[in-house]
Amino acid sequence: MKTNEYKFFISDCKEAIEKNKSIDISYDIEDISLRNFKSYNNAKKKSANLRQKYINHIDELLVSFDKNFTEGGLDINWSIDYNNLIEDLIKLFNDNKIKEVNVFESKLIKELGIIKNLKEEEFTISPQSKNCVIFEPRYAISQTGSLFLDFESAFEMELVMEAEFKIFILPFNNILKNLEDIEILSQLYSINKNKTNYVSLTSIYTPKTNKEKNVELFIVDNGRTSLLESKEHRKALTCIDCDACKKVCPVYALIGDKPYNNVFTGPIANVVLPFLETVDGCKHLSFNCVLCGNCTKVCPMNIPLTDLIIANRNMFFENRNMDYSDRYKVKVLKNHLISRNKLNKQVWRKEILLKFLIKRKLTISRPFPKFAKETFSHLKSHK
Ligand code: SF4
Repeated sequence: MKTNEYKFFISDCKEAIEKNKSIDISYDIEDISLRNFKSYNNAKKKSANLRQKYINHIDELLVSFDKNFTEGGLDINWSIDYNNLIEDLIKLFNDNKIKEVNVFESKLIKELGIIKNLKEEEFTISPQSKNCVIFEPRYAISQTGSLFLDFESAFEMELVMEAEFKIFILPFNNILKNLEDIEILSQLYSINKNKTNYVSLTSIYTPKTNKEKNVELFIVDNGRTSLLESKEHRKALTCIDCDACKKVCPVYALIGDKPYNNVFTGPIANVVLPFLETVDGCKHLSFNCVLCGNCTKVCPMNIPLTDLIIANRNMFFENRNMDYSDRYKVKVLKNHLISRNKLNKQVWRKEILLKFLIKRKLTISRPFPKFAKETFSHLKSHK
């Protein structure tokens, strides 16, 4: 993995580890989850299945959402990627003589680089303006053609709801079927994100009832289709962005956000970034994991993060995305690990092999692992 991205990643990690020698991955939501649900595990299972079902039928949900939303007299703009979206936004602003925009920065809006691009095109970003706002709704609801919006404050709500020109942008995977689905997902989000059962200020925007004209909706792909194409990896599209997986990840606790150089960080980033960005630029992230399984245990959407990280590693090996020397090491290791005879060889032989394979690279900051004098199979044969 000799890419520049990998080199920067390693140097940022070293810097973070130097500063941050102790880690805290304690994460206890038992009290609050008991206060909200009879069985937290059942609530998780129910909503994870629901989100998974919707992702599996996303084409039907999007068609029905399109029909119900546009019946209210508004159009939907479908954007393949951020270039496409920025071009459309600039055209829209020029056509409507808009020079000043209030952009509410969300994870998606950062991912798409909207503020940076608009500034480059000499638009003014004006945080108090009610003239034109860009806002990311949390979900689209297919059955009613509505958008579910949640706000951080009453002031934010007022700015968005009273703006003369509203632009909503959301990723295509954040779609639900019914309004009733929102409650449980919002609760799981609040509990895991902020350890509170307080669901922020919310509103439902339905074109048929709101009857406004100056409203544009952009639905964005930006690489998500490549996750959808894989039956396994599409589970990652059910993520509700609650950060629970980050809170329990020992690697993330040490290295933090900076080495990722992306809005996606932590275990979910290790899974999705090789799909959303490029395999060469991000494959190292799927090896940035000790496979402890903590993230999989806490994820409220039951996303099998650890399995997906392993699936990524296999995929890179099979598709020859790994350097020749790394592929060779994996082959030699596999060859030894599946052979009882080789596993039972003398300790010194195994040590030589391991030293040859890792060339002491892994042992700069920790001792070389010691092999047991006898394998389990030897111990068993003595009994
Ligand atoms: S992967 Fe799961 S735990 Fe992590 S942010 Fe998404 S929903 Fe939360």
